[in-house]
Amino acid sequence: MRLLLVEDEQDLARIVQSGLEEETYSVDVCFDGEEGFFMAESIPYDGIILDILLPKLDGLRFLRRLREKGLSMPVLLLTARGSLEDKVKGLDTGADDYLVKPFEFAELLARMRALLRRRIPEKSAVLRVQDLEVDKAKREVKRGGKVVSLTAKEYALLEYLLYHKNVVLSRTQITEHIYNDSFDLDSNVIDVFVNNLRKKLDKGHPRKLIHTVWGMGYVLKE
Ligand code: CA
Repeated sequence: MRLLLVEDEQDLARIVQSGLEEETYSVDVCFDGEEGFFMAESIPYDGIILDILLPKLDGLRFLRRLREKGLSMPVLLLTARGSLEDKVKGLDTGADDYLVKPFEFAELLARMRALLRRRIPEKSAVLRVQDLEVDKAKREVKRGGKVVSLTAKEYALLEYLLYHKNVVLSRTQITEHIYNDSFDLDSNVIDVFVNNLRKKLDKGHPRKLIHTVWGMGYVLKE
Protein backbone atom coordinates (compact mmCIF):
# COMPACT_ATOMS: atom_id res chain seq x y z
CA MET A 1 0.00 0.00 0.00
CA ARG A 2 1.45 3.32 -1.03
CA LEU A 3 0.40 6.44 0.87
CA LEU A 4 0.98 10.16 0.46
CA LEU A 5 1.38 12.30 3.56
CA VAL A 6 1.04 16.08 3.09
CA GLU A 7 2.03 17.83 6.31
CA ASP A 8 4.13 20.96 6.76
CA GLU A 9 5.14 20.23 10.36
CA GLN A 10 8.23 18.32 9.40
CA ASP A 11 8.85 16.64 12.76
CA LEU A 12 5.30 15.34 12.89
CA ALA A 13 5.51 14.26 9.26
CA ARG A 14 8.67 12.25 9.91
CA ILE A 15 7.21 10.54 12.97
CA VAL A 16 4.04 9.58 11.12
CA GLN A 17 6.06 8.45 8.09
CA SER A 18 8.36 6.17 10.07
CA GLY A 19 5.43 4.79 12.07
CA LEU A 20 3.55 3.93 8.90
CA GLU A 21 6.62 2.43 7.26
CA GLU A 22 7.04 0.15 10.26
CA GLU A 23 3.53 -1.04 9.50
CA THR A 24 4.74 -1.93 5.98
CA TYR A 25 3.13 1.01 4.19
CA SER A 26 5.24 2.82 1.64
CA VAL A 27 4.98 6.56 2.36
CA ASP A 28 5.88 9.68 0.36
CA VAL A 29 5.97 12.95 2.27
CA CYS A 30 5.37 16.50 0.98
CA PHE A 31 5.62 19.64 3.08
CA ASP A 32 3.37 21.91 1.02
CA GLY A 33 0.05 21.59 -0.77
CA GLU A 34 1.25 22.35 -4.27
CA GLU A 35 3.97 19.73 -4.34
CA GLY A 36 1.59 17.30 -2.64
CA PHE A 37 -1.04 17.87 -5.27
CA PHE A 38 1.46 17.31 -8.04
CA MET A 39 2.41 13.99 -6.42
CA ALA A 40 -1.23 12.99 -5.92
CA GLU A 41 -1.92 13.57 -9.60
CA SER A 42 1.13 11.69 -10.81
CA ILE A 43 1.12 8.59 -8.63
CA PRO A 44 -1.82 6.26 -8.01
CA TYR A 45 -1.74 6.34 -4.22
CA ASP A 46 -3.85 3.95 -2.20
CA GLY A 47 -4.63 6.75 0.28
CA ILE A 48 -3.70 10.30 1.32
CA ILE A 49 -3.20 11.82 4.76
CA LEU A 50 -3.74 15.53 4.33
CA ASP A 51 -3.20 18.41 6.73
CA ILE A 52 -5.65 21.32 6.36
CA LEU A 53 -3.37 24.24 7.19
CA LEU A 54 -0.66 24.00 4.54
CA PRO A 55 1.54 26.48 2.68
CA LYS A 56 0.85 27.22 -1.02
CA LEU A 57 -2.36 25.20 -1.30
CA ASP A 58 -4.48 24.46 1.75
CA GLY A 59 -5.89 21.01 2.43
CA LEU A 60 -9.50 21.83 1.64
CA ARG A 61 -8.67 23.38 -1.74
CA PHE A 62 -6.33 20.45 -2.40
CA LEU A 63 -9.13 18.04 -1.68
CA ARG A 64 -11.68 19.90 -3.80
CA ARG A 65 -9.30 19.91 -6.78
CA LEU A 66 -8.51 16.26 -6.28
CA ARG A 67 -12.18 15.24 -6.38
CA GLU A 68 -12.85 17.57 -9.35
CA LYS A 69 -10.16 15.68 -11.23
CA GLY A 70 -12.01 12.47 -10.48
CA LEU A 71 -9.32 11.10 -8.16
CA SER A 72 -11.17 9.04 -5.60
CA MET A 73 -8.51 7.59 -3.32
CA PRO A 74 -9.45 7.75 0.39
CA VAL A 75 -8.35 10.94 2.17
CA LEU A 76 -7.87 11.34 5.90
CA LEU A 77 -7.81 15.03 6.89
CA LEU A 78 -5.65 16.29 9.74
CA THR A 79 -6.21 19.56 11.46
CA ALA A 80 -5.37 21.50 14.56
CA ARG A 81 -8.83 22.99 14.45
CA GLY A 82 -11.48 20.79 15.87
CA SER A 83 -14.56 22.85 15.21
CA LEU A 84 -17.71 21.23 13.92
CA GLU A 85 -17.74 23.66 11.01
CA ASP A 86 -14.31 22.52 9.78
CA LYS A 87 -15.27 18.92 10.13
CA VAL A 88 -18.45 19.40 8.11
CA LYS A 89 -16.58 21.42 5.48
CA GLY A 90 -13.91 18.74 5.19
CA LEU A 91 -16.37 15.91 4.81
CA ASP A 92 -18.47 17.93 2.35
CA THR A 93 -15.40 18.57 0.26
CA GLY A 94 -14.81 14.86 -0.12
CA ALA A 95 -12.72 13.73 2.85
CA ASP A 96 -13.37 10.19 3.99
CA ASP A 97 -12.40 10.77 7.59
CA TYR A 98 -11.09 13.43 9.93
CA LEU A 99 -8.53 13.48 12.73
CA VAL A 100 -7.95 16.37 15.14
CA LYS A 101 -4.41 17.20 16.29
CA PRO A 102 -2.85 16.23 18.57
CA PHE A 103 -3.72 12.61 17.88
CA GLU A 104 -2.35 9.26 18.95
CA PHE A 105 -0.49 7.46 16.18
CA ALA A 106 -2.47 4.29 16.94
CA GLU A 107 -5.67 6.14 16.12
CA LEU A 108 -4.34 7.43 12.84
CA LEU A 109 -3.27 3.91 11.95
CA ALA A 110 -6.63 2.40 12.86
CA ARG A 111 -8.52 4.99 10.82
CA MET A 112 -6.24 4.64 7.83
CA ARG A 113 -6.63 0.87 7.94
CA ALA A 114 -10.39 1.23 8.06
CA LEU A 115 -10.34 3.57 5.04
CA LEU A 116 -8.15 1.23 3.03
CA ARG A 117 -10.28 -1.76 3.98
CA ARG A 118 -13.39 -0.03 2.76
CA ARG A 119 -11.67 0.55 -0.52
CA ILE A 120 -10.76 -3.08 -1.10
CA PRO A 121 -13.89 -5.08 -0.40
CA GLU A 122 -12.95 -8.48 0.92
CA LYS A 123 -15.04 -11.38 1.98
CA SER A 124 -12.62 -12.33 4.68
CA ALA A 125 -9.48 -11.14 6.36
CA VAL A 126 -7.74 -14.35 5.28
CA LEU A 127 -6.35 -14.56 1.76
CA ARG A 128 -5.86 -18.08 0.41
CA VAL A 129 -4.06 -19.49 -2.57
CA GLN A 130 -3.71 -23.28 -2.63
CA ASP A 131 -2.23 -24.16 0.76
CA LEU A 132 -1.00 -20.63 1.43
CA GLU A 133 -2.98 -18.64 3.97
CA VAL A 134 -2.41 -14.99 4.84
CA ASP A 135 -4.31 -13.67 7.83
CA LYS A 136 -4.32 -9.91 7.30
CA ALA A 137 -5.57 -9.04 10.77
CA LYS A 138 -2.84 -11.05 12.50
CA ARG A 139 -0.31 -10.57 9.70
CA GLU A 140 0.29 -14.28 9.87
CA VAL A 141 1.43 -16.33 6.91
CA LYS A 142 1.05 -20.10 6.73
CA ARG A 143 2.03 -22.56 4.06
CA GLY A 144 0.64 -26.06 4.41
CA GLY A 145 -0.50 -25.16 7.92
CA LYS A 146 2.98 -24.12 9.06
CA VAL A 147 3.74 -20.54 10.05
CA VAL A 148 6.22 -18.78 7.76
CA SER A 149 7.99 -15.86 9.35
CA LEU A 150 8.48 -12.86 7.05
CA THR A 151 10.03 -9.43 7.44
CA ALA A 152 7.72 -6.42 7.13
CA LYS A 153 8.79 -5.75 3.55
CA GLU A 154 8.50 -9.39 2.53
CA TYR A 155 5.00 -9.41 3.95
CA ALA A 156 4.15 -6.25 1.98
CA LEU A 157 5.48 -7.87 -1.18
CA LEU A 158 3.50 -11.04 -0.61
CA GLU A 159 0.30 -9.07 -0.03
CA TYR A 160 0.92 -7.11 -3.23
CA LEU A 161 1.50 -10.32 -5.23
CA LEU A 162 -1.61 -11.87 -3.71
CA TYR A 163 -3.83 -8.93 -4.62
CA HIS A 164 -2.59 -9.33 -8.16
CA LYS A 165 -2.42 -13.10 -8.33
CA ASN A 166 -1.96 -14.53 -11.82
CA VAL A 167 -0.87 -11.06 -13.00
CA VAL A 168 2.78 -10.49 -13.93
CA LEU A 169 4.23 -7.57 -11.96
CA SER A 170 7.30 -5.79 -13.26
CA ARG A 171 10.28 -4.97 -11.07
CA THR A 172 9.36 -1.29 -11.40
CA GLN A 173 5.82 -1.89 -10.19
CA ILE A 174 7.11 -3.90 -7.27
CA THR A 175 9.70 -1.27 -6.41
CA GLU A 176 7.19 1.56 -6.54
CA HIS A 177 4.78 -0.31 -4.39
CA ILE A 178 7.16 -1.52 -1.71
CA TYR A 179 9.67 1.29 -1.40
CA ASN A 180 9.22 5.02 -1.16
CA ASP A 181 10.90 7.54 -3.42
CA SER A 182 14.01 7.98 -1.38
CA PHE A 183 15.01 4.36 -1.86
CA ASP A 184 18.16 4.17 -3.88
CA LEU A 185 17.41 1.26 -6.12
CA ASP A 186 19.78 -1.24 -7.56
CA SER A 187 17.82 -3.50 -9.92
CA ASN A 188 19.26 -6.58 -8.22
CA VAL A 189 17.63 -5.63 -4.97
CA ILE A 190 14.15 -6.66 -6.08
CA ASP A 191 15.46 -9.97 -7.44
CA VAL A 192 17.20 -10.78 -4.19
CA PHE A 193 14.19 -9.69 -2.24
CA VAL A 194 11.74 -11.80 -4.29
CA ASN A 195 14.09 -14.76 -4.07
CA ASN A 196 14.20 -14.52 -0.31
CA LEU A 197 10.43 -14.52 -0.15
CA ARG A 198 10.31 -17.42 -2.59
CA LYS A 199 12.73 -19.44 -0.49
CA LYS A 200 10.61 -18.94 2.59
CA LEU A 201 7.34 -19.79 0.86
CA ASP A 202 8.15 -22.35 -1.79
CA LYS A 203 11.15 -24.28 -0.55
CA GLY A 204 10.27 -27.90 0.06
CA HIS A 205 6.83 -27.55 -1.53
CA PRO A 206 6.21 -29.41 -4.78
CA ARG A 207 3.88 -26.70 -6.08
CA LYS A 208 5.65 -23.38 -6.46
CA LEU A 209 3.62 -20.22 -6.03
CA ILE A 210 6.03 -17.46 -7.09
CA HIS A 211 7.34 -17.61 -10.64
CA THR A 212 9.80 -15.56 -12.65
CA VAL A 213 8.57 -14.45 -16.05
CA TRP A 214 11.68 -13.97 -18.10
CA GLY A 215 12.16 -10.34 -19.16
CA MET A 216 8.92 -9.24 -17.50
CA GLY A 217 8.87 -9.73 -13.78
CA TYR A 218 7.19 -11.93 -11.23
CA VAL A 219 3.83 -13.57 -10.73
CA LEU A 220 2.10 -15.44 -7.95
CA LYS A 221 0.20 -18.22 -9.67
CA GLU A 222 -2.66 -20.28 -8.39
CA1 CA B 1 -0.09 22.52 9.06
